[in-house]
Amino acid sequence: MATLRFNALKETLNRKPVEVEEKERRSELFGKNVFTESVMRQFLTKEAYQSVMEANATGKKIDRTIADHISTGMKEWAISKGATHYTHWFQPLTGTTAEKHDAFFETIGDGLAIEKFGGGQLVQQEPDASSFPHGGIRNTFEARGYTAWDPTSPAFIYGTTLCIPSVFVSYTGDALDFKTPLLRALHAIDEAATDVAKYFDKNVNKVQATLGWEQEYFLIDSALAASRPDIQLSGRTLLGHSPAKGQQLDDHYFGSIPPRVLSFMRELEKECMILGVPVKTRHNEVAPNQFELAPIFEEANLAVDHNSLLMDIMQRIAERHNFMVLFHEKPFAGINGSGKHNNWSLSTDTGVNLLGPGSTPMKNLQFLTFFINTIKAVHDHEELLRATIASASNDHRLGANEAPPAIISTFIGSQLTEVLDELEKVTDGKLSPQEKTELKLNVVGKIPEILLDNTDRNRTSSFAFTGNKFEFRAVGSTANCAQPMTVLNTIVAKQLKEFKKEVDGLTKGKKMKKDDAIFNVLREYIKDSKNIRFEGDGYSEEWEKEAEKRGLSNNRNTPEALKAMITEDNIKLFEELNVMNRVEIEARHEIELEEYIMRIQIESRILGDIARNHVIPTAIRYQNILIKNVRGLKEIFDNDFKKHSKEQLEIIQEISAHIEKINSEITEMIEARKKANKLEDAEEKAFSYCNKVKPYFESIRYHCDKLELLIDDEIWPLTKYRELLFTR
Ligand code: ADP
Ligand code: MG
Repeated sequence: MATLRFNALKETLNRKPVEVEEKERRSELFGKNVFTESVMRQFLTKEAYQSVMEANATGKKIDRTIADHISTGMKEWAISKGATHYTHWFQPLTGTTAEKHDAFFETIGDGLAIEKFGGGQLVQQEPDASSFPHGGIRNTFEARGYTAWDPTSPAFIYGTTLCIPSVFVSYTGDALDFKTPLLRALHAIDEAATDVAKYFDKNVNKVQATLGWEQEYFLIDSALAASRPDIQLSGRTLLGHSPAKGQQLDDHYFGSIPPRVLSFMRELEKECMILGVPVKTRHNEVAPNQFELAPIFEEANLAVDHNSLLMDIMQRIAERHNFMVLFHEKPFAGINGSGKHNNWSLSTDTGVNLLGPGSTPMKNLQFLTFFINTIKAVHDHEELLRATIASASNDHRLGANEAPPAIISTFIGSQLTEVLDELEKVTDGKLSPQEKTELKLNVVGKIPEILLDNTDRNRTSSFAFTGNKFEFRAVGSTANCAQPMTVLNTIVAKQLKEFKKEVDGLTKGKKMKKDDAIFNVLREYIKDSKNIRFEGDGYSEEWEKEAEKRGLSNNRNTPEALKAMITEDNIKLFEELNVMNRVEIEARHEIELEEYIMRIQIESRILGDIARNHVIPTAIRYQNILIKNVRGLKEIFDNDFKKHSKEQLEIIQEISAHIEKINSEITEMIEARKKANKLEDAEEKAFSYCNKVKPYFESIRYHCDKLELLIDDEIWPLTKYRELLFTR
């Protein structure tokens, strides 16, 4: 019977917002549990402090004896804050964070114990890593992996545990996590962008990639979520008829935040403040029960850590407020899905945003240089960029008319398009003084005004320029930003190196002046990368056709999209920039395929179970009620009964037809699964799941959803869309 559903509804309707105390000001709370620079100055020796700072700035390794000093200071601080344990905190390739807690505690014989945390324990830890995905790396080489401290991301205390942000690598040094390649890519972009930035300002010694993510999510009451096995096990609904009212009225987006949600947000933000995550914006999103949270942007590695940490604490805090957070890209069919926009830019140690407008023509030429090189990089590597956002769950969103399509393109706005059109006309070779003046005054000189007045927005572009940063909008809401950030920074680094080589080639032996050379190279890039620029409606069918004509990729599913990861060209690219080696890339490709297979496999099983164990029995029960009714009618009306039971008989038949379809399709789906499981090769298996198993989802769902409309609401066991989405 539908008792679970109705009990859950009753529970939900009786809930009150959980009280959240907010005594201290946010500015006072900020970073309270973070081992920040000022805390370090307080708890570390001068030498130790300096070596952390140096490691931060230059990537220089920290000496082992110094590590002992640092760990002692860190331990003192942590214990003063009530911490009892420490853990290396890392991001294995599973999409969540991992930790193994050890106590600051050591026996010293004679029944005595001390609190201890040595340099060795700070620098390195060996988690029991056999359960983390490794794509064969550890099997082939070494049985163990270890975690190593990343001094560029500050340690923090969560609960009573000191968390030390770490990388996770095999004993051969191969990356087993998201962070390692990201750090390498950030190093590559630093080198490449610093070299180019020096054309414009000799004082630049370091360039950092910046990331400001925007996290979308759904909040569903935990009792309601628990009443749906599909939500519990796969994070999304595998069936459910759309409600009479969806998001058409936009009343959620413009409405006020519901009180229970607001109280959740307040506690979450408080926790974020304490942990140094600079969250700033919160609002309702388009779909009912959908929300968004965004921080102030930070250095990319730190921003990635903060996003992972946030996703983790969101789930924990949601529990206290009787919510379940759905990060899934498409938890409800027919309702807007969730993404995680990645706002990206580059910033120098002299405090300049390289994608922001400057105050002089030369500074604007700098802007144009980084702007055009980014577009060129995206143009040359669009398929690889698409691969980084591929996942079983994001497949539901990309190209579904509500999110950017599976096609990567850049939107820059009409005014910057005009600027690039003008630059395209620049003469080949040396520029005349007149031409230069003209350029500086009328083209380059106008950029600041354009950027300040950037009202041009296009929400349908997958990679849009938004005034002083690019916004990669196709990233999935469950994704770890490290992946898209690793690739984006790698391809731009590669492109900037190329650019420098070409400009230096032209200026060598004073053949050409520097700015002439820059204009010349940029002109060619503008021409070469035109195909990636699109200003129109990215959700339209015309764009799909147009993109095909332009030769842009449109990889609609994950196995197809992932192919780009392992092309020889891309392996060469990663190796050349020291971001990943062949073994690491191939392992990652394999892990992504396995993950994809697993997701579809699990969903297929859940769908089969729900349809057979919940939907069909309920349908039969209702059918029996109808049959009894018809029998009764026959008793009363005798031969005339057909006239009075016409509708009932029709529904009885309809129910049978749906049951028949559901049952036979589940049998076929299971057969398809068995066939797929026999395949050895991960790619073949993934394609088989994609093309042979997944297509059954839609049709099984169709018949189940039809039954939902036919059957008496009183006995329908699965919590309905309207209840999941509109109960507060
Ligand atoms: P919007 O109008 O799109 O909401 P904002 O300008 O407020 O735009 O920025 C949206 C996001 O972009 C924020 O999360 C912010 O942190 C981020 N952002 C702003 N500037 C940068 C930058 N230079 N680098 C990276 N992210 C940035
Ligand atoms: Mg945005």
